[in-house]
Amino acid sequence: MDEIILPFIICLNSNMLNIVLTGGPGSGKGTQSNVLCEAYHLRHLSTGDLLRAEIAGGTELGQIAKSYIDKGNLVPDEMILDMLAQAVDEVLTDKASCGVIFDGYPRNAAQAAALDDLLAKRGQKVSVVFDIQVSDNLMETRLLRRAGIENRADDNPEVIARRISLYHELAKPVEDYYKMTGVYVAIDGEDGIEPTFAQEKAVLDKLK
Ligand code: ADP
Repeated sequence: MDEIILPFIICLNSNMLNIVLTGGPGSGKGTQSNVLCEAYHLRHLSTGDLLRAEIAGGTELGQIAKSYIDKGNLVPDEMILDMLAQAVDEVLTDKASCGVIFDGYPRNAAQAAALDDLLAKRGQKVSVVFDIQVSDNLMETRLLRRAGIENRADDNPEVIARRISLYHELAKPVEDYYKMTGVYVAIDGEDGIEPTFAQEKAVLDKLK
């Protein structure tokens, strides 16, 4: 029988690939996170998933967060930061990880600055930001389709509309922040998984 040799991956934490994914709800951040994690040996850090785990665990943070999430509003910045810092610390101890994908954080310019600060304190930085751009129509269609599969309380037409409009309100300052720090890349996410990944890969291959 042929011997299967698994690649043994060691990444130096000083040289990590830290990717921020921004884009509206339903733009494909979660899906691209999975594809990128697999291709580049990264860890996926989604503030939405972390918050849903808090809700499922019945924690105090979860209970308060739920009241914001169910209405399509953002959970206040200061409530998220400790949770995020803890998750980053946990990921940085993972020697098999070559970096982190931040999915759903930052959502506004203050969070973008907070993330830079948090990473700088740990000798890290944001390597690149992919802003996955899709039309409102496609976001809506995907979220309504997901509603039938995942049963998320915030995937109903009224809350979806609120999340999309809040995204438009806050996206420009985040874009401007990352253009200023020189890491912003717009990605066309309209054509689905593979074409979106191909654009990201082209950028990452040049970063190496
Ligand atoms: P989506 O981007 O598809 O709306 P997420 O799972 O990223 O879904 O987020 C779900 C909800 O969790 C958001 O609508 C918001 O209420 C809350 N949330 C997630 N990330 C953040 C964040 N960085 N700051 C504040 N609230 C957040």
